Amino acid sequence: MKQERNPFITFEEAKARGLKCDEPGTVACPYCGKATVPLGISFDGSVRWITHEPCGCPEEIEAQQAQAAKEAREAEGKLNSKLSRAGIGKRFLNAEVSLEASARYLSSFGGNGGAGLYIEGCVGSGKTYAACAIAKAFIMAGYNVVVATSLSMLEEIKRSYDDNSAAGIERYMACDILIMDDIGKETTSSWALTNLFQIINSRYEDMRPTIYTSQYDVDSLLTRMARYGDRESAEAIASRIVETSAFIRLPKRDRRREKSCFGGYGPKKTLQNQSHR
Ligand SMILES: [Zn+2]
Repeated sequence: MKQERNPFITFEEAKARGLKCDEPGTVACPYCGKATVPLGISFDGSVRWITHEPCGCPEEIEAQQAQAAKEAREAEGKLNSKLSRAGIGKRFLNAEVSLEASARYLSSFGGNGGAGLYIEGCVGSGKTYAACAIAKAFIMAGYNVVVATSLSMLEEIKRSYDDNSAAGIERYMACDILIMDDIGKETTSSWALTNLFQIINSRYEDMRPTIYTSQYDVDSLLTRMARYGDRESAEAIASRIVETSAFIRLPKRDRRREKSCFGGYGPKKTLQNQSHR
């Protein structure tokens, strides 16, 4: 295999290649003071001495490690603020895709015609975790993602209408991927259903994927949404969900088993374990 050519050359190499250059002065390691080998770059037929070989002393190694750690922290901070801006709560910033069905959905994504997911599970089953893990994967891949509970979406829309702006609802309609968390928990009213339908239908028409989480299956969701009389909107919402979603049903978490098997709350391992049942 051909080795990647290091752009830097030593004085010995410069002489061997017949390059025009001044003899470099000595360069002391800034950490321990030991003399190091000067390195230059060949530019326009002559060599300029710009750096030196690593010294390898413990102080230098420590400084390099500290620099790498600082860069890693900065990168993590940048990613976390991106995730927060998308609406992912602090609790879920470290969410990892661990469900087989989620991984399948993500790997088959791309030109999938707006196909979304409906993740159903009772309180504490890890559905928000699973949805946030998917959201994070999309954000890291460069998609514009919004994560919000249906309740907070409606509150935000109401606030924006009160300010005579449609910015609230447009944000949910226009993002690449919308995670609508806990649908069915919102207070149902004709106004709420109309707005939810408007978001869901606009995304359906533009083939933008929506990922729902809910503690209800779609039939119970429909019953719940229709209980104040607006059955038509409720049916329209349910119909769009069924048409566009793959369904994931999370089993009830067995906390005793989880503790004894994994020594604490480990959503990753637990969910993986459960998905194979
Ligand atoms: Zn040194």
